[in-house]
Amino acid sequence: MNEMTTISRQQRAYSPAAAAFLARKPQLFINNEWVDSSHDAVIEVEDPSSGKIVGHVVDASDKDVDRAVAAARAAFDDGRWSGLPPMVRDRTMNRLADLLEANAALFAELEAIDNGKPMTMAGAVDIPGAISQLRFMAGWASKISGETTQPYTMPGGQVFSYTVREPVGVCAQIVPWNFPLLMASLKIAPALAAGCTLVLKPAEQTSLTALKLADLVVEAGFPAGVINIITGNGHTAGDRMVKHPDVDKVAFTGSTEIGKLINRNATASMKRVTLELGGKSPVVVMPDVDVAQAAPGAAGAIFFNSGQVCVAGSRLFAHKSVFDQVLEGMAATAPFWSPRPSLDPDAHMGPLVSKEQHERVMGYIEAGKRDGASVVMGGDVPASDGGYYVNPTILANVNPQMSVVREEIFGPVVVAQRFEDLDEVARMANDTCFGLGAGIWTKDVAVMHKLAARIKSGTVWGNCHAMIDTALPFGGYKESGLGREQGHQGVEAYLETKTVIIQL
Ligand code: ADP
Repeated sequence: MNEMTTISRQQRAYSPAAAAFLARKPQLFINNEWVDSSHDAVIEVEDPSSGKIVGHVVDASDKDVDRAVAAARAAFDDGRWSGLPPMVRDRTMNRLADLLEANAALFAELEAIDNGKPMTMAGAVDIPGAISQLRFMAGWASKISGETTQPYTMPGGQVFSYTVREPVGVCAQIVPWNFPLLMASLKIAPALAAGCTLVLKPAEQTSLTALKLADLVVEAGFPAGVINIITGNGHTAGDRMVKHPDVDKVAFTGSTEIGKLINRNATASMKRVTLELGGKSPVVVMPDVDVAQAAPGAAGAIFFNSGQVCVAGSRLFAHKSVFDQVLEGMAATAPFWSPRPSLDPDAHMGPLVSKEQHERVMGYIEAGKRDGASVVMGGDVPASDGGYYVNPTILANVNPQMSVVREEIFGPVVVAQRFEDLDEVARMANDTCFGLGAGIWTKDVAVMHKLAARIKSGTVWGNCHAMIDTALPFGGYKESGLGREQGHQGVEAYLETKTVIIQL
């Protein structure tokens, strides 16, 4: 009867290339070489589709971090990267993108094994996304320039003044586990375009694709020390990176809680900081919509990547005249989103990334039920032999005081609320400490623009959700972050401005 009970949640066999990669000795990539850690500590690599340990990576020591930062410092200070012709920087970055493209299938498989996301999704979204970050930013390497400006208070011809854009320096880049390679690429691409050198640390749960990327750095032609990739825990290796005196800039994507801590630690020594943090993004469905289009759209906004998306549409606001139909339409997508192992070609949603995340998400669902929310769909765990699966979940009868409404769950859980008019929904949508993304579904162009203007968030989507493009700035209002990534503004975040004033 129930289609979901017939799904096998047995993870499939890995390809020989993936198995060989997982069997490698845990090492760090510093100064264009694979090197041993100064100590023996490792982190287990777990496949969240089965819950099995499938490999190990280094848990970097303070000494390892210092070694990576020293490599990046030396490479920055002697100008071996920033001093190259922009054309060469552009070509080198494009060669890295070419190599990623040539190895795309293996990257997609490693991402699926490590994170739990469907391999088909990694192949369609994560890997092409990472490639386009590199290619777009490669073009910026040759388009960075200053200005000559006539001073306001000085007579013409007596002073020559101009500005120069210079790379910020050594960057510590710390990324989360939800889109591992895409986030890594989103960080390294603008830094490289600007002429910076870097130390990148992937999340301890998902280090595989960053390590595989390191395999390609030498072949692409990067000078030693420009890209250093280390693995390790956040509170140790990550903390050391953020506080390191030889680091000039910190770029972080992750939770708001850790982002605030990193901001304090980094700005204590005036490091430049970019933060892309959490969200609780609203999805507003107006009464004029075609429900057959908007309901699957609202479902995709929350269930894509198991809801482990900083811009996940986790608060649904549907107009009271379409509320019931929208929820019915979303519930009808349950078979499509039913979680499967990441290497199952029919998977649209995988497990959550870890046991910890599973417990956290189920804890929120239980809290919602205790607080009086009603479960419209899901709210439970499907049958499986291990693995961290959660069924896609819709909660209704919620109120703004509940933790499921206020806090970022980072799982496939949406809370649904009714509204009556534009003023009310604008107020409800903004009733959050976050401001990362928002979705609006309507055919009425005037309503679209009015609401887009009123919602306080870094990105507003109309009749779609979570569409990201490397040419378009991305970042948060309020507690969702600091600064912007991608687009022209993304490179700006890796540049200083020097003003030169010469009396003639
Ligand atoms: P999540 O809650 O999604 O696991 P976190 O914000 O904890 O995300 O982690 C995102 C990234 O930040 C990871 O790479 C993690 O190792 C790193 N990290 C966590 N704590 C710290 C810290 N105190 N200093 C620096 N990096 C950290």
